[in-house]
Parts: sequence; structure tokens; C-alpha cells
Amino acid sequence: MKYALCQSCGMPLVDAIKGTNRDKSTNNEYCMHCFQNGEFTDHHLTMHKLEVKILEMAEVHNDLTLEEARQVIKILPTLKRWQMSNL
Ligand SMILES: [Zn+2]
Repeated sequence: MKYALCQSCGMPLVDAIKGTNRDKSTNNEYCMHCFQNGEFTDHHLTMHKLEVKILEMAEVHNDLTLEEARQVIKILPTLKRWQMSNL
């Protein structure tokens, strides 16, 4: 079975990193880095800024491989957060 992806940053949405709703319940669409207490943690985040951040995670912090980073960047436009911003 495939993990769901955070609908903002495209990271695999495992239980340990799920975001929270305003009532402190678990949010099943976004991770804790993107979404906390019912709000996006960074309202000014754009898809482009996110791409830069993901590449940085790969190149500077080695949180993921460059290949993984490219995969994530490729799916960003299909995620819920960024589809809404195009409306
Ligand atoms: Zn996220």
C-alpha cells in the first residue's frame, strides 16, 4: 500500500508527521510542517519557494536524494494546495 502524500509539500504522510486541525484532531491531508492547528504554517509559501526548499533538503541536509526531490517537485502541481491556488 502506498502512503498518502502531504497535499502541500508532497512528502509521504506517515502518522508521525500528520498535521493538526483547529480542534487538535489529526489532519489527514497535510503534514505538521505545512499545517498546524487548522492553518498553514507558512501562508506566503509558493510552489516555487517549495521547490527551492525541497532541493535544499536534498543538497544541503541530505534528507532525501536528489532523485527523490525531483520526483516530489514533479507532483507538486497535482497536490490539493497548489491546485486551489490556480483557481
Ligand atoms: Zn507537508
